[in-house]
Amino acid sequence: MLDLADATLLQTSCRIGSRRIMASDALGIPVRNPATGACIASVPRLGAAATRDAVVAAEVALPDWRARSAKQRSVLLHRWYELVIATQEDLARILTAEQGKPLAEARGEIAYAASFIEWFAEEGKRLDGQVLQHPQPDQRILVLRQPVGVTAAITPWNFPAAMITRKVAPALAAGCTMVLKPASQTPLTALALAELASRAGIPDGVLNVVTGSAAEIGDELANNPVVRKLSFTGSTAVGRTLMAKCAGTIKKLSLELGGNAPFIVFDDADLDAAVAGLMQAKFRNAGQTCVCANRIYVQDAVYERFAEELARAMQALQLGNGMDAGITQGPLIDEAAVRKVEEHIADALAQGAQLRVGGQRHALGGTFFQPTLLTGVNAGMLIAREETFGPVAPLFRFQDETEVIRQANASEFGLAAYFYSRDFARIFRVAEALESGMVGVNTGLISNEVGPFGGIKQSGLGREGSRFGIDEYVELKYLCLGGL
Ligand code: ADP
Repeated sequence: MLDLADATLLQTSCRIGSRRIMASDALGIPVRNPATGACIASVPRLGAAATRDAVVAAEVALPDWRARSAKQRSVLLHRWYELVIATQEDLARILTAEQGKPLAEARGEIAYAASFIEWFAEEGKRLDGQVLQHPQPDQRILVLRQPVGVTAAITPWNFPAAMITRKVAPALAAGCTMVLKPASQTPLTALALAELASRAGIPDGVLNVVTGSAAEIGDELANNPVVRKLSFTGSTAVGRTLMAKCAGTIKKLSLELGGNAPFIVFDDADLDAAVAGLMQAKFRNAGQTCVCANRIYVQDAVYERFAEELARAMQALQLGNGMDAGITQGPLIDEAAVRKVEEHIADALAQGAQLRVGGQRHALGGTFFQPTLLTGVNAGMLIAREETFGPVAPLFRFQDETEVIRQANASEFGLAAYFYSRDFARIFRVAEALESGMVGVNTGLISNEVGPFGGIKQSGLGREGSRFGIDEYVELKYLCLGGL
């Protein structure tokens, strides 16, 4: 069993207003530890009716929550932040147990998740309006920034804590209430966070959590006219479906979807730094992040050296149960994830790529997969077009800057991009030319609460985190004051 300092953080009940809904054994969703296959707990398998109830609960809670001052909401969010930090170790253990990432990464994610709560507790206090000059002398224009109202969030399994707080914190800070559907693979982190929100004094109904059928809950959230806004993080395919469904009620949308990040190493780069950056951008969370480097373009003159140094760094990765000390790569989330990785490798090899490291399921069994390095990869291969979402590093060779920018931009996705160079002019040229919402220049880590996170093209709509992230939960209202 999971060893926690506070065992009551292992919550298995959904939260709809003041109601707590347990999983009846037969109907629950088992939550499995991907490192061992063991069932940790079961959560309720709810559907449309429970989701409607949750929307009603959020609607009932809205007037009081919206009417509080930003400062009053901020005090509660700060308290929530403090509780998350105080229980970081337990939350990290729950996260690793259901998601598989190494405990050190899970601790980092909890700190990252908490940072959004702290950040938006502050930003909520700065939702200021404006007074504008009317074209007529006897009139004035006031612009108010008001909460959108009842909102909904659907979140993925790869960051079971941070993807939640990045949506919930700005929504609550702005005065919105929310219905959250976490991924079925990782609901326990979500339920623990909601429990802490409740302990912090955030009233029942302000944050409701429903677990269960993605299609049923998603449909209800998209179709329900009371829900004014939906924020989704997940695959582009599901994002597209939700966007179409939200058309029925002209809902506001934030979508943080798939990526296919290029990672470019120019021949003037600091190669050691580029290898270190790639290790972070590629192997964090076993390659299961939407900003993971997916296509690695290395300039001809440094290609071989880079491949050798990368191979060496990859061989130092320690695979195993994320709960164990020293582990740097956990299992993949499920069997389907492993099959996709295998498919991408097989396709690349069939088309002439060379296998330099790994390539196989790991001897540990289950969904453990060897860190894999492929060289001689080209644009015709599946791995160039699709997000692999696994520990595979494919190296493409390029000759010049214009060519690599064209290749990097030849994707319907535009989330993150990375490049390494020490040439001042090139840094500006390339950063401005890359078609992506975020660019890491000489760094492989771009996520924090201060920078605006989000994509262009089919990687999504809107920005999360940063001073811009709260705008997603705010409407502008214009008051025209006459007869002055
Ligand atoms: P991933 O590849 O990260 O699992 P998904 O887009 O499948 O991405 O899942 C992300 C979230 O979207 C999860 O909470 C999942 O349950 C939910 N989801 C999956 N399919 C649908 C759907 N048809 N409608 C609404 N939500 C969905």
